[in-house]
Amino acid sequence: MKDANFLKKSQLMEVIEQSKPELCLLSDYIYTHPEIGFQEVQAAKILTDYLAKQGFSVEKGYGGLPTAFRAVWKNGSGGPCIGLLCEYDALLGMGHGCAHHLQGPSMIGAAMAIKEVVTGVPYTLEVIGTPGEECPNGGKAIMLENGAFRELDVALMMHGGDTTTTDIKSMAASQFIVTYKGKSAHAAIAPDKGRSPLEAIMLAFNGLAFLRGHVADDVRIHGIISDGGQVVNVIPDTAVAKLEVRSYDRSYLDQVVERVTRILDGAALMTDTTYAIEKIATFYNKVPVLSLNQLLMENAAFAQARSISPPREKTGSTDFASVMYIVPGSCIRVAFIDKGTAAHSEEWLKQGQSDQAHDAMIVAAKVIAMTVWDLVAIPERFVMVKDEFKKVKRQSEKR
Ligand SMILES: [Zn+2]
Repeated sequence: MKDANFLKKSQLMEVIEQSKPELCLLSDYIYTHPEIGFQEVQAAKILTDYLAKQGFSVEKGYGGLPTAFRAVWKNGSGGPCIGLLCEYDALLGMGHGCAHHLQGPSMIGAAMAIKEVVTGVPYTLEVIGTPGEECPNGGKAIMLENGAFRELDVALMMHGGDTTTTDIKSMAASQFIVTYKGKSAHAAIAPDKGRSPLEAIMLAFNGLAFLRGHVADDVRIHGIISDGGQVVNVIPDTAVAKLEVRSYDRSYLDQVVERVTRILDGAALMTDTTYAIEKIATFYNKVPVLSLNQLLMENAAFAQARSISPPREKTGSTDFASVMYIVPGSCIRVAFIDKGTAAHSEEWLKQGQSDQAHDAMIVAAKVIAMTVWDLVAIPERFVMVKDEFKKVKRQSEKR
């Protein structure tokens, strides 16, 4: 089996290497036509046109978003259903400073190689385009609400990085807008007639500062006042704050959000004002599946990825975590830039069409293709991944 495994993986890598010039053209096109979240019309078109030409059956607008898509290839009937997810949104005012232009072509490279090389076992492969990762209400979370991804057994992704690694955690997050309403009055002539929503927000922020002292270490609470009134001599009738609360554990975070709400209640009570909450985004934490991460990292070593490193200690929030909360998944980050260089920087942007970026895209395609082979051809590995996911998720819900 080891020899057969080696041979298949070598074949997959060879096919991907052959398609490198075309994949580079695709990524360069997306790089030079940057489109922000939910407006990625050209990127979605070039990727879906290419997939359709390769014999995938393409569904546009998958998960209720016009620039999302799903391209399916079925080999035989039954078998695992593996999703290869890709983003293609750029940063507002900056272009592709997070290297999302590499993802679609990389997943296409992997998918084409699997379709050509992995023929003897049944499986379904879905290349899924997921818009608007950089937007506060990440596209994948919206697609999930609309029923997407639920058919998958495993979800895989790639992302550019400063090291080659997989994450073992990401933060669940809740973001909302709080609008307090009070009573407007002249601040000098009739302060007794006024009820200040700005003061309500200031009291709420003080309450949140004290709350920080009585929550678990991993909790983050941050906010801004986006509207505190217009002129100094008028008590405003409206004040608005944006709040975000995070933790590495969704179920614990839900408890913290309830406590935040009680602080908002208290601030309204103290100031004789009222308030309303508008939810902007709800992200889940990643449920890490270490056996899947290990498969990816073994294949990264086999593909000779550069700068192989242990998982990152600090991570933010991502909409892919919401997918990973319901389906076992993992994202391989592949190094294309010097270690320590932060995403969303000029350096990332400048390197977007470099040889290193093209190489990372190809390495990631190889890693993903070989991992799909591992999952569809070796049933024990597939079962191990599914079982570990169920176990870890049960544990996290007990906190
Ligand atoms: Zn990104």
